Amino acid sequence: MSSSVSDRTSTDGLPTVRPADLAQARDTMRDAARAGHRVLVRGAGTAQSWGAPVEPVDVVVDTTGLDRLVAYNPADMTVAVGAGMAMADLQDRLEGQRVALDAARIPAGATVGGLLATGDGGPLRASYGTLRDLVIGVTVVLADGTVARSGGHVIKNVAGYDLTKLFAGSLGSFGLVVEVVLRVHPRPEASRTLAVPCPVTEAVRAAGVVLSSPLEPVAVDWHDDRLLVRFEGTTAGAVARADKARELLGSGEVLGGDTEEAAWSGLAALVRGEEGQTVLRAGTRPDQLPEFAGLLGTLAERHGVSAALTAGVGVGVTTVALTGGSPAGHGAVLDGWRARVLAAGGSVTVHRAAEGTFEVAPAWGPAPATAPLLRSIKQRLDADHRLAPGRFAPWF
Ligand SMILES: Cc1cc2nc3c(=O)[nH]c(=O)nc-3n(C[C@H](O)[C@H](O)[C@H](O)COP(=O)(O)OP(=O)(O)OC[C@H]3O[C@@H](n4cnc5c(N)ncnc54)[C@H](O)[C@@H]3O)c2cc1C
Repeated sequence: MSSSVSDRTSTDGLPTVRPADLAQARDTMRDAARAGHRVLVRGAGTAQSWGAPVEPVDVVVDTTGLDRLVAYNPADMTVAVGAGMAMADLQDRLEGQRVALDAARIPAGATVGGLLATGDGGPLRASYGTLRDLVIGVTVVLADGTVARSGGHVIKNVAGYDLTKLFAGSLGSFGLVVEVVLRVHPRPEASRTLAVPCPVTEAVRAAGVVLSSPLEPVAVDWHDDRLLVRFEGTTAGAVARADKARELLGSGEVLGGDTEEAAWSGLAALVRGEEGQTVLRAGTRPDQLPEFAGLLGTLAERHGVSAALTAGVGVGVTTVALTGGSPAGHGAVLDGWRARVLAAGGSVTVHRAAEGTFEVAPAWGPAPATAPLLRSIKQRLDADHRLAPGRFAPWF
């Protein structure tokens, strides 16, 4: 039976430390530094397959004990929270407000720190940005046990780095995120989604029309041969704007309740992927999406693999899921498709890979222009490369 990389980055059976506060987190990292231990940081473990497989480590730092709601100020619309708190639990505790992420799309248990360290975003990124854009302060512990904070009161300024930007997408390679201060937004009363059946080329054009209108959709994605345009607000407002969008585009069906939920959760399932699949996430310019969708179809057919694609047509974030065929086929499609996306100035991250895929195509493509900078930051923050060793190999 085939398996994904997550099996190879399994943390089962490894010595695990579960700090419950900042002091314990600092001591844990200090002890590991003194012993020369290699460390893997783990939240809920739902995204340990992202990037290249981590080499063997000596200790796992489980963040789920860092689950305190430190301070919630509804009037200021900010919340300070331990990085190990599950995002779903945090959302439950924000009365009438929310962290503006697609809560329903985030895997069960996924932690605030894991969300920041994976640096991903869902459909709401079109209007609120990713989690990185909602973070106003972060406290981290570096590889040697140094506590650093950016935003708010500064305990130690690490040579002027913007820690939030540095740790977003760092996949546990730069340090341990312990606490995060987030901006929150009012929870909308209702949502409606206009679903317009169309090919991706038409979806990009239609998305441009809606996004340049005053209708202000919060999410615009293409999935399952439909353009999905979501509106939030009061019930009357969401319905009225979805109706106006239908008039503007000349067709479509307004979804609410279970049918709306099903449309977006189908998209989430594709993004999450499953055992035996290879799932890639790419950032491109929205106008390049039709070309990349066409190329994917050609490559998949050539190499005997089934490919499904979902596209954030407003922001140019694409997810590709490869199914069936052989590891060589998955590797060939990954390699060929990624080469073209990178050549056009885009980026590609592998979220999971069918067993054997990395023997054909490496987890990361050619080093980006920023690789020397990333390497020097890694050298400065974790000179012995003890944190998540190999996660970004061969870049660093
Ligand atoms: C809006 C939004 C929508 C999303 N939608 C989807 C979706 O549809 N499907 C999907 O599969 N994923 C989705 N994601 C990504 C999903 O959120 C990740 O799976 C999740 O964030 C991982 O959390 P975790 O606690 O399981 O992390 P883990 O799997 O435990 O860790 C993930 C990585 O982060 C590092 N890490 C974890 N915690 C910390 C910490 N405290 N400090 C430093 N490094 C740390 C780990 O070392 C590892 O490299 C979405 C994310 C966002 C923001």
